Amino acid sequence: MTGILILSVISCNYSNAKEDKNNNSKNSVNMKFEKVALPYATDALEPVISKQTVELHYGKHHQAYVDNLNKLVVDTKFANADLETVVKESDGAIFNNAGQIYNHNLYFTSFKKGGSGEPQGALADAINAQYGSFDKFKEEFNAAGTSLFGSGWVWLAKDASGKLSIEKESNAGNPITKGLTPILGFDVWEHSYYLDYQNRRADHLKELWKIIDWDVVSARY
Ligand code: MN
Repeated sequence: MTGILILSVISCNYSNAKEDKNNNSKNSVNMKFEKVALPYATDALEPVISKQTVELHYGKHHQAYVDNLNKLVVDTKFANADLETVVKESDGAIFNNAGQIYNHNLYFTSFKKGGSGEPQGALADAINAQYGSFDKFKEEFNAAGTSLFGSGWVWLAKDASGKLSIEKESNAGNPITKGLTPILGFDVWEHSYYLDYQNRRADHLKELWKIIDWDVVSARY
């Protein structure tokens, strides 16, 4: 087992390492898709996200996407592909599960206990230039997440020139399929908030800003 793990680490594709150090995107026959390691305790995000929600969301939902994808890619052209390639090039069930692994790896690494205030550096400058202020940006982002019909994600993304955009995506959608780079994603599937906020999605989105790890998120810009 240890030998396989060491071999896996050596052969990992690190193209996405800055965003997802532990996102073990696979390009070796011995490797399987995995979820990112949780960088905090399951109760660290309380009261914004309860321990029970983290345990179910990370431990059950996210795990299910990983287990599903590992089964689905067997004997397909994606068996040895890295996760980003699978997301960009697949459709149907493979896309749904790969997209959700990618999305949740990004999501769960965007938080820390107590948060860290506001965006920093170049990201802060870009937000202020495009949206007027961080508060105005948050309003627009929350409105996009609240108005998204059904399950999906609201993303802050950038294009190749650094221009920011707020992207609404249904189900497992991700900006990388449009050639954009995701900076921050809020999960608006009911499984992400229903135990803690029931139907009050807007309240949940407002609270999430209190636990953002802006060191990590700003570095994605
Ligand atoms: Mn989710």
